[in-house]
Amino acid sequence: MTSIAANLQAVASRIAAACSAAGRNPAEVSLLAVSKTWPAACVREAAGCGQRAFGENYVQEGVAKISELADLGLEWHFIGPLQSNKTRPVAEHFAWVHSIERLKIAERLSAQRPAGLAPLQVCIQVNVSGEESKSGCAPAEAPALAAAVAALPNLRLRGLMAIPEPTDDGALQHRRFAALRELLAELNRQGLALDTLSMGMSDDMEAAIAEGATLVRVGTAIFGTRNYAA
Ligand SMILES: *Cc1c(COP(=O)(O)O)cnc(C)c1O
Repeated sequence: MTSIAANLQAVASRIAAACSAAGRNPAEVSLLAVSKTWPAACVREAAGCGQRAFGENYVQEGVAKISELADLGLEWHFIGPLQSNKTRPVAEHFAWVHSIERLKIAERLSAQRPAGLAPLQVCIQVNVSGEESKSGCAPAEAPALAAAVAALPNLRLRGLMAIPEPTDDGALQHRRFAALRELLAELNRQGLALDTLSMGMSDDMEAAIAEGATLVRVGTAIFGTRNYAA
């Protein structure tokens, strides 16, 4: 068995164990394999093991892999920071965007989503770490942003995403993820119908699953340590 195959099995076991500890059904938690910096061949290998959903952070790199692997019919998620001059290729090539933090970006994605494609599935990225983090909208801004995004014609708002600051403090991990879960519940009480909590990565997926993650974004534990210099 290749290391990607073994790593995918190990991640599936971690998800299953975390679900079991939390009394959750593993079918409620989907795995997004984060393939940024890894060549298309690694994605093809993971796809050969049955993995269907992949996450990319950089527009050019992601679009190149999407075209190279078009024969596989994979589901591609954009999870990185998105500048307004890069929205068009994302609207044209990805199925999901997790990193909406401003209305202007959402408006451009909706306007640029090609007719004939399904609506772009989106999450609003929320900064649950205060001054420890720069990305994501402030929690207090999320209700208004969510209402505005939900009204855009070619997007479908699915939920919230967060990247808490890295920490070994398990209680802090739980607090950050719980804050996102509570915010999603508040938005649903206000009339939205959101089903996605995109939270948890290689180092903190157990805490995220315990707090209600429905999608974990995992890179290192599947593909290995990234080399950004490459
Ligand atoms: C890189 C990245 C991940 C994966 O992180 P790992 O620690 O490698 O699992 C998840 N989410 C986002 C937004 C990322 O940029």
